[in-house]
Amino acid sequence: MNRLDIAPVRAFQDNYIWVIRNAEYAAVVDPGDAQPVIAYLHAEKLKLCAILNTHHHADHVGGNDDLLRHAQVPVYGPYDERVPTISRQLREGERISLPEFDVEYSVLEIPGHTRTHISFHGDGALFCGDTLFACGCGRLFEGTPQQMHSSLQKLAALPDDTRVYCGHEYTLANLRFALAVEPANPELISWEQEAREQRGRNHPTLPSTIGREKRANPFLRCNQPAVSAAASKHAGATLTDPVSVLATIRDWKNNF
Ligand code: ZN
Ligand code: FE
Repeated sequence: MNRLDIAPVRAFQDNYIWVIRNAEYAAVVDPGDAQPVIAYLHAEKLKLCAILNTHHHADHVGGNDDLLRHAQVPVYGPYDERVPTISRQLREGERISLPEFDVEYSVLEIPGHTRTHISFHGDGALFCGDTLFACGCGRLFEGTPQQMHSSLQKLAALPDDTRVYCGHEYTLANLRFALAVEPANPELISWEQEAREQRGRNHPTLPSTIGREKRANPFLRCNQPAVSAAASKHAGATLTDPVSVLATIRDWKNNF
């Protein structure tokens, strides 16, 4: 199957605005800033056809207004009054179609980083904003460890070859932390080498895949003995349930 072209546009320090594109049209995911998107559209001679937002944070929606001045396009996003420009608010299980690309994305609600965070899944790709990062997860600004755990498990249930397009280039720092949790995990060791090379050439480390995340990401591996043992050691108490393990390693990472 011929998959859609998905290109990164960089914004701010380490954000990625993902551009779903063909030779004529572009849809953008989480345009925190309009300027680099407009520059990309001009350079590539593309017409904007849609905006997709995963959550309300400014570094993901801040460019909506300016882009809408540039082109009147639908804005798909969560049920959240904090994003005033959304033209269609989406719930779990709803689908959006982008006829310009002959593609459909289905919506998964994945609260944890924020309470209304959603993701878009289709054509073998997942746009998951700040919930699942390559080898990490978002901070729990509005959600509980239980919510984050369920959201991550929902994403882990997608096919292994699903490509993961997250909102930030955090991979090297996440790998460094993951190696503190699971120093002997071979997937982490080889991934770190690969990511160093990519960053050395100033290339994105993304997309990752769901299969790789399941083998490497400690936040998806809270039921693995090596991860719960490391969390227990860090907490100074025996932790067995995956939610307590996730809460502990999330705290650990915050201060890492
Ligand atoms: Zn965020
Ligand atoms: Fe963000």
